[in-house]
Amino acid sequence: MESIGPLEQSLHAARARVLADLAAGEVAAADVVSMVEDSVVQRRWWVEQWPEGAEFVAGLVAQDVQDALLETYGRWPLCPVCGSGDPHALEVEPELGPDPYWVCHKAGVKVAAVGSLGTAAGGTFPS
Ligand SMILES: [Zn+2]
Repeated sequence: MESIGPLEQSLHAARARVLADLAAGEVAAADVVSMVEDSVVQRRWWVEQWPEGAEFVAGLVAQDVQDALLETYGRWPLCPVCGSGDPHALEVEPELGPDPYWVCHKAGVKVAAVGSLGTAAGGTFPS
């Protein structure tokens, strides 16, 4: 169990992607990083029970951190696409699937892949 297997790789990748999105939103404070770590610990257990779910982990960690932030920090990540109206958060789609995206339900658009939110800060996302 010393070597880094595919499960551990997917957890590392999920952690890196969510941290990148947090940094893009400038909310990478120390307590936020620990939220990511807590989620990765829980999802490690989860994916050990169900290895086929490894490619779903990034989306799940993103949603865990989003939920944790909502209780302490507020909505994250705020939609960078809609210039007017009430600020609203993006949502992960699919909730349980590979290749998770941040989606704005108000505009009905995919904003960025989880982990690539920093590239979408200007508005449009090359699809
Ligand atoms: Zn929006």
